[in-house]
Amino acid sequence: MIISKELFTKNVKDFNIDLKDVEIEMFDKYAQMLIDCNKKFNLTAIKEPDEIVLKHFVDSLSIMNTVEFCEGQTLIDVGTGAGFPGIPLLIMNPQLDITFLDSTGKKLIFIESVLDELSLFGETLNSRAEEVGQNPDYRESFDFATARAVSELRNIAEFCLPLVKKGGTFIAMKGSKVEEEIAQSENALKTLGGKIENNFKFELPSCGERSIIHIKKISQTPTKYPRNFSQITKHPIR
Ligand code: SAM
Repeated sequence: MIISKELFTKNVKDFNIDLKDVEIEMFDKYAQMLIDCNKKFNLTAIKEPDEIVLKHFVDSLSIMNTVEFCEGQTLIDVGTGAGFPGIPLLIMNPQLDITFLDSTGKKLIFIESVLDELSLFGETLNSRAEEVGQNPDYRESFDFATARAVSELRNIAEFCLPLVKKGGTFIAMKGSKVEEEIAQSENALKTLGGKIENNFKFELPSCGERSIIHIKKISQTPTKYPRNFSQITKHPIR
């Protein structure tokens, strides 16, 4: 085993997560695949097993301290990269119906190999969030959207909120100093049909402060959103 079982179990205890041996073995295989694949192409900057445990696995699982997932609920992980937070959430909640979305095809090929190796079920989607958000097959269809380390809050809100159904939740994973981002996104959230329900703050061991922001979808997103990428980034909703 390349990951430390003790480090992992100790650090998810605060989130009320009791890892079973079979789950730890799945995480271990995943860590091994991340390290192997990183030798071939740049998948993630985090490469050491202890860092993978804390900065990727524990951080991703912190969401479970803020929400209880139910059988059959749908979640889209926007800008999933090497699978964060989507794969850790799926290992712990295989009843979730997760779609892994990224604009980089080779990252999704990696995700497919992980799903296959761990015998997990999930959909991969190689596209841009702002295009998927205008596709009637996906628009306003998910119970949850998640995004970690993708962009600033008002931009990821435009990527993610159009994908969430009314009554669903967009979960934004952020570091410290989110107050300014939240203040800047106030109008964007209102325009897109979202409302901040909660901002859970916690300390991630050896990584500092984290915020998990729950944004409830309270009304439909106007059809003009999401706009194209350059409009979103050059002219954020003010
Ligand atoms: N969420 C992962 C994590 O926390 O490790 C990956 C973060 S990585 C910094 C950002 C990812 O978002 C990249 O894999 C990139 O390809 C993807 N991305 C950026 N903009 C996107 C967009 N508009 N639509 C889909 N994926 C996007």
